[in-house]
Amino acid sequence: MKRVYLDYTATAPTKPEVFEKMKKYYTEQFGNPSSVHTFGLLNRDDLLEARKIVATTINADVNELFFTSGGTESDNWAIAGVAKAMKNKGKHLITTKIEHHAVLHTMQDLEKQGFEVTYLEVDDMGKIDLENLKSEIREDTILVSIMYANNEVGTVQDIAEIGKICKEKKVYFHTDAVQAYGNFLIDVKKLNIDLMTMSGHKIYGPKGVGALYVRKGVKIKNILHGGAQERKKRPGTENVPAIIGFAEAARIAHKTLDEHREKLIELRDYLRDRVLNEIDHVKYNGHPTDRHPGNTNFSFHFIEGESLLIGLDMRGIAGSSGSACTSGSLDPSHVLMALGLSHDIAHGSLRLTVGDFTTKEEIDYTVEQLKEVITWLRNMSPLYEDFLNKQK
Ligand SMILES: *Cc1c(COP(=O)(O)O)cnc(C)c1O
Repeated sequence: MKRVYLDYTATAPTKPEVFEKMKKYYTEQFGNPSSVHTFGLLNRDDLLEARKIVATTINADVNELFFTSGGTESDNWAIAGVAKAMKNKGKHLITTKIEHHAVLHTMQDLEKQGFEVTYLEVDDMGKIDLENLKSEIREDTILVSIMYANNEVGTVQDIAEIGKICKEKKVYFHTDAVQAYGNFLIDVKKLNIDLMTMSGHKIYGPKGVGALYVRKGVKIKNILHGGAQERKKRPGTENVPAIIGFAEAARIAHKTLDEHREKLIELRDYLRDRVLNEIDHVKYNGHPTDRHPGNTNFSFHFIEGESLLIGLDMRGIAGSSGSACTSGSLDPSHVLMALGLSHDIAHGSLRLTVGDFTTKEEIDYTVEQLKEVITWLRNMSPLYEDFLNKQK
């Protein structure tokens, strides 16, 4: 059976050249970077090189970059670590209703510890209101955490404006850039970002590795305790092969950013146009222009998203309904709800995300299969039958 992977936002394959680079660090150059012998020293050098590579891609200093176990840990650390360090200044944090659960659940945990969190609303395209953000910042606000590009609907926030506001108001600004890194040119200095989350497997690197950028001078406490790794801020023996792979993926992403974006945008818009032109009763979710280059998100009326996913999977097509992390629960996506979609419409949603290995032929195949599955599901739907009867 033909297999088409259109879930690059959930995870991307490790590029073969990235994997090649990682191999020797498992079997040959396996030393612990903290050791004093040559086995260790070699890896200490390569670790520093990897740190330089990733730091350069975001215009950060090498000492402002810390490797972690991925986006989830970086989000947890940025938020809980700043809260812990700044609690004497204030106990108020600001975020949005459409964050990844790594941010939302960390915020909820802080609420249980006596912190207060404001969850900003977004408009029907997924954007926060900058005036609203300004008015919510208080004397006791210590952190604003707003994602760069949303993982479900792709909407990109006005990060430069948010950075400016936070700088003026003297509150730290953290952004979860897991979906944006590798898809947008990010200069943390120009954008006034104080803390930024990145992840390896979303940029064609390995899973289980990521980074947190922490601007020099930002007060942050450790959330993990142990050895002196990562300049005493993030203990645990460094995952050297994964870090090497992450840096190689970051280097490639940075070098090929323009072509990568162009390719994705062309495929994304082709997919969007074909679906909107050839299928009835469909809504395109997210922002029309300020958007992740690979993201499409549709709501099909009279359809249940899970059945749609299964129907597509039976035809070899991998998509997602909402977020990969919430599938398994029957609640509609918190992101689509925040955009103001009704329960029914949110339930009939499908996210298809294209990536570097996607082809136009794959999109054509997907659209043809999608049309068939939707017709099949609608023909079984009592809601659709009601709708047709009312049209008569
Ligand atoms: C995938 C993702 C994360 C989590 O990153 P992991 O490396 O999988 O832990 C966090 N935020 C966003 C926006 C994501 O898409």
